[in-house]
This record gives sequence, C-alpha cells and structure tokens, in this order.
Amino acid sequence: RVKEMGRGTYFFYEKELNARMQARRRAEADLRDGLSRQQFELYFQPILDLQRFAVTGAEALLRWRHPERGMISPSDFIPLAEQCGLIEQLGSWVVREGCRAAAQLPADIRVAINLSPMQFDRPGLVRTVAAALEESGVEPSRIELEITESVLLHDNDVNVATLDELNDLGVTIALDDFGTGYSSLSYLHRFSFDRIKIDHSFIRDILRNEGSLMIVRAIVMLAHSLGLVVTAEGVETDEQLAAVRGEGCDSVQGYYIGRPMPLADFQVAIGNSRGASVTAA
Ligand code: C2E
Ligand code: MG
Ligand code: MG
Ligand code: MG
Repeated sequence: RVKEMGRGTYFFYEKELNARMQARRRAEADLRDGLSRQQFELYFQPILDLQRFAVTGAEALLRWRHPERGMISPSDFIPLAEQCGLIEQLGSWVVREGCRAAAQLPADIRVAINLSPMQFDRPGLVRTVAAALEESGVEPSRIELEITESVLLHDNDVNVATLDELNDLGVTIALDDFGTGYSSLSYLHRFSFDRIKIDHSFIRDILRNEGSLMIVRAIVMLAHSLGLVVTAEGVETDEQLAAVRGEGCDSVQGYYIGRPMPLADFQVAIGNSRGASVTAA
C-alpha cells in the first residue's frame, strides 16, 4: 500500500510538473509572438522637479498590450523574458524606443529607461545604447538609465566597467528602488551614479512610520553628500509630496503627479502644465 501511495504521489508530481512546463512553454511562445507582432508599448510617467516645480522628465515603463489578456504589467512578464533569454531583444527594443520617444519630446525633457540586471550579463549593451542614441539623434545627456543594486552585487567588476562605458556615452545612471536590495553601501563610491531613486515602500509609509521617514532622511543626506540627486518614487498624496519635499528630495514621481501614460498623452500633459500656472504644494 505504501508503495502504491508512493507511486501515486510520483505520478501526481510528474503530471503537475508536466503541466507547469507546458504552461511555461506556452507563455514563452506567447512572449515571442508578442515581440514579433509588436504588442509592446512604452508608457511615460512624469517626473516633477521640486526646485523648478516643473515636469522635467519621464520614466519609460514597458507595457504589453496582449490581444486576449489585455494590458499586462512588466512585473508579470519581465521575469519570464529574463528566464527564457528574451530580455536582450525586449530590452534593446525598450532602449531604442525610449530614445526615439525622447527625440519627439521637448529638448528640456529627459527620459529614464529601465535596464534589467540580466542585460548586463550579455555583451552588446553598450553598443545597443550607442546605436539607439545615434539612430534617434537624441542628445545623450537627455537619457538616464535606471539600474538596480543587484547589478553591482558580488563585486562585479565587469558590470562596473560596463557602467563606466555607458557613462562615457554621455547618459546618466540612476540607482532604482534604492533601499530594497541586498544593499551594501560600498558600491556607491565604486561607480559615480547621478541619481538615487528611493523605493516607493518608504514613501508609502513615510507619514505613519517614523522608521521610514528616518530612512528617507538618511538616504537624502547620503546621496547629497555624495553629490547625487534624489527622486522619491510612489508619491500618491499631497501629504507625501510635502513630506519628501521637506526632507530635501530633488524630484518626485508617483500617481499624485501623474500615472504612466502613452507618449501622446504625456506630450499633451507637459504642454498643459506649461500653459497653466503651477502652484507650489
Ligand atoms: P520601477 O522602475 O521602480 O517603476 C516604478 C513602478 O512604480 C511602475 O510600475 C509604476 O507604474 C509604479 N508607480 C508609479 N507611481 C506609483 C505610485 O504612486 N504608487 C504605486 N503603488 N506605484 C507607482 P510598473 O510600470 O508596473 O513597473 C514595475 C517594474 O517593472 C518597474 O519598477 C521596473 O523595475 C520594471 N520595468 C518596467 N519597465 C521596464 C523595462 O522597460 N525594462 C525593464 N528591464 N524593467 C522594466
Ligand atoms: Mg525604474
Ligand atoms: Mg555620469
Ligand atoms: Mg523603482
């Protein structure tokens, strides 16, 4: 009987495993299909400069307009793209499209583009960025590349060298989701970043959790003493905006300022914000 149960369990797991592998293969084929059918789009979320109290840039955020499943968010397909080796192709498209969009925006608007840590594992990232800059004709200083702390884990000299080469192209580099990774502060002076983006989890709690407020305060101090500017992510309310402003953040991003939107809408939004008088919070 025990033996039978064992066999039953074995078959159960085997079936389960097969089903999962099939699902994954389907998802992978779907992703490949989406790429070749151009189902991907970039949305743009405004970034408000608190010094000038004006929108001075946008973060490009990837969206998958799936014919059956609707709009899919990047957290639902980037990991898959990373696992099945499609991130290079997808990531290159994002870089090209991000630069192309920047070229269609006013010259004082910058565009931030997210890079997957896995794009650093492959040669050609620097070439891809250089080609995208050239193709679009966009001024390199108008492009910012966002990386996460994991790119610099394990004392990775190759990645630091890649960052140096990207920096030499004239783009700026931001450290995204700061405070959430397996951070070691030692990497902060190994490469000259331009910006730190404080993860939205600290902003979410900034008014009700003194710990979060203190962390934001410490990050701003650390960043400013290293000569970096700071963006607060995930600002959803007027009170949060006032708080991060009070802590000395240089710019803010979040639903309170504006949701991610198609390029055409972003163009209209910056046009409007220029026409209207902006009142300080
Ligand atoms: P991220 O780079 O930290 O981007 C910010 C995320 O926060 C975006 O989610 C944005 O929509 C969301 N967000 C903005 N304001 C608020 C707010 O006020 N409240 C809350 N709760 N969320 C807010 P999204 O677009 O779903 O992207 C999720 C993550 O996927 C991004 O986090 C980034 O890590 C990754 N991602 C997005 N686009 C790309 C891409 O083109 N390439 C790569 N490699 N990763 C991307
Ligand atoms: Mg980002
Ligand atoms: Mg630089
Ligand atoms: Mg972030």
